[in-house]
Amino acid sequence: MRELLAQELLEIWERGSAQSPTERALTLLHAARPDLETETLANMSIGRRDGLLLSLRESTFGRRLASITNCPDCRAQLELGFDIDQIRLADTLVESEKSHTLSADGCELTFRLPNSRDLVAAASASDVDSARQVLMTRCVLSVRGNGRQVESDPLPQQILERVEHEMSRLDAQANIQVELECPSCRRGWTTAFDILAFFWSELDAWAQRLLVEVHRLASAYGWREADILGMSATRRNIYLNIVNG
Ligand SMILES: [Zn+2]
Repeated sequence: MRELLAQELLEIWERGSAQSPTERALTLLHAARPDLETETLANMSIGRRDGLLLSLRESTFGRRLASITNCPDCRAQLELGFDIDQIRLADTLVESEKSHTLSADGCELTFRLPNSRDLVAAASASDVDSARQVLMTRCVLSVRGNGRQVESDPLPQQILERVEHEMSRLDAQANIQVELECPSCRRGWTTAFDILAFFWSELDAWAQRLLVEVHRLASAYGWREADILGMSATRRNIYLNIVNG
C-alpha cells in the first residue's frame, strides 16, 4: 500500500466529494494501488476491497480507530477505540468472479460475491428491496431444482435470505460487527463498522482542516498552496504555531 501525500489526498477528497461511496472507495484505492488495474479493483469482492481500505487507512491516519456513539438505552456517550488488526480478517477471497454453490429449498444455486460494479448498479434502484433484487439478478448465476431450470428473477424471499447469509459468511470482511458495552447501564450490543464511511468522514474533516491551515499560512507568508501542501505536517504545524502566536 503506497502512502499518499497531502496533495494527492486532497485531490482524492475533491474528486470523491462528488462521487457515490462505492466510487470513492475505487478512487482511493486506485491512487494507493496504481499496480492494480481499475477493472481488478472494481471486480474485487466488497470484503477484499474493505481489507485494502483498512490498510490504506492505517498508512494514512494510523492503526487506531476511535469514534463516539450513544448507548441505545440510556443515551450515555461512549468513546470506542480499537486497532485495525482487531477487525482485519485473513485475506481469503481475492476476486468476486469465483462462483460458489448453495443448496436451499430443494434448489441448487451458483452465485458470485457482489463487487463494486454490482453496488453501483444496485444504488440506482428506487428502494432497498429493489436494490437487493438487482444484486441477486447480477450475482446469482444459476438456479436449478430437480434438474430443471428455476425462475430466478425475482428469487423467492426464503432463498434470497439464504444467499445473502452465505455471501455475508464468505465475504466476512465486508460485514464487520463491533461489540459494545455501556459503562453506565451495562447494556451490551453490536454495531456494524463501515470502514469506507469511517475513513471518508475522517478524510473530509482532515481536508477541511488542512485548507484552513493553508489559508492561514498563505495569508501570513504569501506562500503558494502547492508549497504549503508539499511541507511535512510537522513543519506546517511549527509555522502555524508561530503564526497563531
Ligand atoms: Zn447505557
